[in-house]
Amino acid sequence: MRTQEKVILRNVPTYNPETIKKIIQEGIQDFGLASRINGNITIKPNVVMAHPKIAPSAFTRTEFLDGLISALKAERKGDLKITVAEKTGAGLPTSRMFKHAGYPNLKKKHKIKLLPIEEAKKRTVHLQKGEVHTQVTTAREIVENDFLIYAPKLKSNVLSHGFSAALKLNMGLLLDRERLWNHNYELDKKIVDLLEVGCPDFIATDAVEISIGGNQLTQHGRHLGIVVMATNPLVHDVVCAHILHLDPRHIPHLRLAHERGYGSLSLDSIKLEGDIALEEIQQRTKDLALGFMKVDEVDCGMRIIVGEPYCTGGCQGIFLDWLYMFKDRKPRLWKNMPPWTVVIGQYKGDVSASRLMVIGSCSRIEGKVQARTRRKIKGCPPRHKDLVLLFFLKAGILNPLFRLDLILDAYFFLFLSWLRRLIKGRL
Ligand code: SF4
Repeated sequence: MRTQEKVILRNVPTYNPETIKKIIQEGIQDFGLASRINGNITIKPNVVMAHPKIAPSAFTRTEFLDGLISALKAERKGDLKITVAEKTGAGLPTSRMFKHAGYPNLKKKHKIKLLPIEEAKKRTVHLQKGEVHTQVTTAREIVENDFLIYAPKLKSNVLSHGFSAALKLNMGLLLDRERLWNHNYELDKKIVDLLEVGCPDFIATDAVEISIGGNQLTQHGRHLGIVVMATNPLVHDVVCAHILHLDPRHIPHLRLAHERGYGSLSLDSIKLEGDIALEEIQQRTKDLALGFMKVDEVDCGMRIIVGEPYCTGGCQGIFLDWLYMFKDRKPRLWKNMPPWTVVIGQYKGDVSASRLMVIGSCSRIEGKVQARTRRKIKGCPPRHKDLVLLFFLKAGILNPLFRLDLILDAYFFLFLSWLRRLIKGRL
């Protein structure tokens, strides 16, 4: 008989590294994992993006990792070599995002290795159950280690049906080309494929402050004051979905993971432990709006027309994410966007507009078109940074992410990262 999976919920009111250390140490002991804390340990946080002004809540906080690493050192059973490995969002250099997140302080304090996955030695894993990916290439330290820890940030994310926790973290294993490949209506299958490569031994989730309600990079943090710990990523995510009042059966990547045998979707089959009840946490989250909706239902001053396919994880989702950057960081403009008509997907019908923007390589209008100005942004899907730049160049719309320091990160420092990889033979 399968033993009941356990998830531990703990009250952690502030980002005090000492408190976090104690809580995670107790979690490691409760799960009977203390004997495994030796050798090469890889920690995978969420650093999809970090920026003190524009993306202050998108990443696993330094204080949280400080507590986690201190707990590992306190529980060590032998030599310990800790690596923090991550690939940040597409088209950005991870080393810069580590810096914005404050991770170099961790390196100095704990003598750990910070590893941008794109600059690492690589391993290719052939998948047995993959439906989108038959193989995946990622950092050696993700594949070859003695103990793999995931440290996600609990977030809402409109690209993955409003929800991002442990399973979604696996997108950060991929290098940009593989990451963007089929990042469309197939995104949920991609996420589940990656469980064959990234299946953590232990998960400790930063939910002291959760990141909710807008764009996954720029949305605001909300205090929740908890840490979630588990050993099964699906079961962990089922509990996190309930924390956000979501039904796991309606989150496709959780449902698909269940169908592929990674665990149950039923709360009844999960043993909840810790010092705070799920119901009490749900009281704290009951008024949160996650922002997940269809992009053509957004009321923002633009007319948005969608055709087929509707790609929640692709063009439609990424354009919604682009719009949410204004909601998060330029709220005055949010309801008064310049009156462009935007078409995404293959639309059957006539379109008459003053200014027309078509987004997505496959997108087209199968009908009569009348427009004074016509523009197109290609990509399947275009990256966030492409939308930021091309909407400025083609439509004159200045996104909040259009900042000199981020332009330097996204182009100059990205080039330096590419150069380092070239020199080390790790392209
Ligand atoms: S181009 Fe866009 S809408 Fe078309 S399949 Fe790709 S992600 Fe979907």
